[in-house]
Amino acid sequence: MSLLRDLFDFFLPRTCHICGCSLRDTEEFFCVRCIESLPRSLYHHLPMNPMESRFAGIFPFVRATGHFIYSRHSRLASAIHDMKYRRFPAVGRRLGEIVGSELLSAGFFDGADLIVPVPMHWFKQARRGYNQTDFIALGVSEATRLPVYRALRSSRSHKSQTAMSLAGRQANLAGSFRVADADALRGRGVVIVDDVCTTGATLRALAETVMEQVPDCRLYLLTLCVTI
Ligand SMILES: [Zn+2]
Repeated sequence: MSLLRDLFDFFLPRTCHICGCSLRDTEEFFCVRCIESLPRSLYHHLPMNPMESRFAGIFPFVRATGHFIYSRHSRLASAIHDMKYRRFPAVGRRLGEIVGSELLSAGFFDGADLIVPVPMHWFKQARRGYNQTDFIALGVSEATRLPVYRALRSSRSHKSQTAMSLAGRQANLAGSFRVADADALRGRGVVIVDDVCTTGATLRALAETVMEQVPDCRLYLLTLCVTI
């Protein structure tokens, strides 16, 4: 096994997706030093943290957090780029696993039953080949032992939101999502997982759709990264 790994490393060296250094046998996608140095929001320790205050009074939820602080120039940006655009979805699984295990020990998932990834429209997913959020959800599931269930669908393709205001994003997203299996969510603690929370418009649109169709489910909102 280690001979195979050595041969593999010789032809296709495994390097850290943040600093580019060679990885040790025990490291996967990131070196230990980079993982430790990533900026954490620590929102899960704060009652009514900045992400929760974005949604408070709009729809009911149990907890919300974005785990890593993100900006286009942050050290995490290259890893997020690799995950989304360079066909390294497993980077998302590894990050999900890190986030899941750090939040698990803090009690964030207490009362939760299911991990539900934010869906991608089928056309976009066919073009990209995968939905990175499915992989993040898998990583969170591995750390928490909560099952992943794809109970939501993106019902129409919407325009890129990068340059839009919050109001523009909300209008663009209205009616974008639907619950494919409401029975599976009824009375359950549902952790909705996404990659990055910028304005919160995607999570808001999705949460409002879920609460409209499954009013008795308890929502937890979790993103890998959050912008501040
Ligand atoms: Zn590194």
